[in-house]
Amino acid sequence: MNFSNENSYAAEADAKDPLRHFRKKFFIPKQADGSDVIYLAGNSLGLQPQTVREYLEQELKDWAEFAVEGHTKAKNPWLPYHEFLTSQTAKIIGAKNEEVVNMNSLTTNLHLLFVSFYRPEKNKHKILIESNSFPSDYYAVESQIKYHGYDVAESLIEIKPREGEDIVRTEDIEELIEREGDEIAVIWMAGVNYYSGQAFEMGKIVKAGHKKNCIVGFDLAHAAGNIELKLHEWNADFAVWCNYKYMNGGPGAIGGAFVNERHLNDRSIPKFLGWWGHDKKSRFLMDHKYIPIPTVESWQLSNPPILQLASLKASLDIFEEAGMSALRKKSEMLTSYMEYLIKGEINNGIQIITPAEKNERGCQLSLRIAGNGKEKFNRLLDKGVICDWREPDVIRAAPVPLYNSFGDVKRFVGILSEG
Ligand SMILES: *Cc1c(COP(=O)(O)O)cnc(C)c1O
Repeated sequence: MNFSNENSYAAEADAKDPLRHFRKKFFIPKQADGSDVIYLAGNSLGLQPQTVREYLEQELKDWAEFAVEGHTKAKNPWLPYHEFLTSQTAKIIGAKNEEVVNMNSLTTNLHLLFVSFYRPEKNKHKILIESNSFPSDYYAVESQIKYHGYDVAESLIEIKPREGEDIVRTEDIEELIEREGDEIAVIWMAGVNYYSGQAFEMGKIVKAGHKKNCIVGFDLAHAAGNIELKLHEWNADFAVWCNYKYMNGGPGAIGGAFVNERHLNDRSIPKFLGWWGHDKKSRFLMDHKYIPIPTVESWQLSNPPILQLASLKASLDIFEEAGMSALRKKSEMLTSYMEYLIKGEINNGIQIITPAEKNERGCQLSLRIAGNGKEKFNRLLDKGVICDWREPDVIRAAPVPLYNSFGDVKRFVGILSEG
């Protein structure tokens, strides 16, 4: 791409951006002088869609007006409310409608799906994860191993980048699975690693895993709403994600889960049950004869929090309007532009550890800062940049195509290069 480091380039790129009007659909936090902050932390908490209030108010109004009858009489009846999000969610994840549901939260869903898909046996009890996996994933997996009576030292395998490298090579993952796959029960990887920003080649990992009869699941926390996903086509077994990062569902938003249709009606799969997984037509007969919904909804336990679903729905409607492929196109440009500026303007100790290949990353760049990185980070904060710091030496910056501009990226790199 023909980038330039002139200020006029950013202004022109913004003027030509077909998605530029989406920024106005979000609340951008302000600095003390009233100007917008440079918000590059959508990988931690997505900004608030301006329509959220209206979606919530509708439900508050219907609760006031109808109380219990809101389950059927609300403008958006609460009984089937989660279904209003299904097809939009399926598009984001690249799945069939039957394969996705929004429920609980990420780590809770991780445990619920491990109950179903981690069934260790004497000679096949291992779980493969990334060496720099997110702590919650690590703890969850560790506790699952212990819960089943296995020894973490023996049952947990971590795949690491090669010495001196930051990125895990796909060939190394494939080689490890080929070598140890007979003993691996579950392969559990991120879609996009939260620290390095590496997007894994999920299709290839599934293929390698299935060849060795491993179940392959993904944590899509940093992938959902960021990169284009094809979970069904890749034939992944299961996945979970949160909806408060790129999905803009709000702090602590309701989470999401995917189960491949192959498993949906397999009665041999163990599952923790609740009444919301029971067949919708006979649920209220309350007769203790469990009939599962023939979709991933059978993994639901409780009736869901409607206000959470309403808040997420506001964002999903925006995603639908913009479209993932258009968002991804802009995202690739924004991130490549940031990379170009950092490489061109700064030659003082900033190393981009995120892959340079666009298919191997989402929007985030992870910058390893030599010397006193924390000081640099604090200076960014003082100057109105919101990004984040990850010990020991990394700044993560994520330009999000829904609301970030080329101007944001230009100003960010300008401040970063100040010293
Ligand atoms: C953000 C994130 C989580 C957070 O888990 P919650 O259960 O939503 O608190 C877990 N795993 C990964 C990989 C994440 O990026």
